[in-house]
Amino acid sequence: MLSDPRALRPPKAAVDPRRPLGWLAERERLADGRVVPSLTVFLAGRECPWSCVFCDLWRHTLDRPTPDGALPRQLELALEAAGPPPAGAQIKLYNASNFFDPKAVPPADEEAIAGLVAPFAQVVVECHPKLVGRRAFAFAERLAGRLQVAMGLETIHPAALPRLGKGMSRSDFARAASALRRRGLGSRAFVLVGAPYVPPAETVDWAVYSAAFAFDAGVEHVALIPVRGGNGALEALAARGDFTPPSLAQLEDALGRCLELAGGAVTADLWDLDRLADCPACFGRRRERLERLNLSGRNEPRVSCEHCA
Ligand code: SF4
Ligand SMILES: [Zn+2]
Repeated sequence: MLSDPRALRPPKAAVDPRRPLGWLAERERLADGRVVPSLTVFLAGRECPWSCVFCDLWRHTLDRPTPDGALPRQLELALEAAGPPPAGAQIKLYNASNFFDPKAVPPADEEAIAGLVAPFAQVVVECHPKLVGRRAFAFAERLAGRLQVAMGLETIHPAALPRLGKGMSRSDFARAASALRRRGLGSRAFVLVGAPYVPPAETVDWAVYSAAFAFDAGVEHVALIPVRGGNGALEALAARGDFTPPSLAQLEDALGRCLELAGGAVTADLWDLDRLADCPACFGRRRERLERLNLSGRNEPRVSCEHCA
């Protein structure tokens, strides 16, 4: 385990808490099979207090608490730019940290945030499982739409999970998922493809086992995240053989196998897929296939390619 992943970091980007980091309109398949418009707003705020070795979300965060009023203002700007949401749309409020950490999302701003997201049928926020509790349940009651909490399960590999810096066991995750489910609220699990400390030959298997664990715990959506290097800590782990970046083929295998699991929606995170491109002849078709799988929920035969087969 790395003693201090923060010491290995490249510099942070400058972040202005008066402006959102960005927004992205796409479509997403839900656990009930419907495909709905989905707006993700990347909010600028205080950094997460954990330091997971694979995480690079800290790059665009503040070192101080998020100022009061900043998040509603960021959200207003993003919603103005994105335009009125279509009926049934979902919004993801991703703040690169934990929505229910009062230093990341000031409690005084909750009412304004809930008002701004009232036109959305589902509101997704991200949070560490250990911070899912009374504040989350109370926030759900303020919302016109339904709350879904996205939580990093990462991997259930028994030697890897305790070394990631997440400060969480799989039981912590299961407890949070079950507490949300008991209240009729949704949860989504982030599962890593290429988690550090998982042997590369077992990467796909452990992603599938972790997704199955999440569904057993009551999660309704699993998002597969291919681990991306560049945060300093991962390069140190790679140098000593504890991290191998995942391949596109591993992401394809993991998504195909997870789609066979019963339990809910499975999608692969394709936001930064270009960095996994390893063959210019077939990459475009492979990306399109993954996009189709994300939306249909059904596996398809792999793309064949004479250049890299
Ligand atoms: S808990 Fe989430 S946001 Fe915090 S360091 Fe870990 S992965 Fe990053
Ligand atoms: Zn190819």
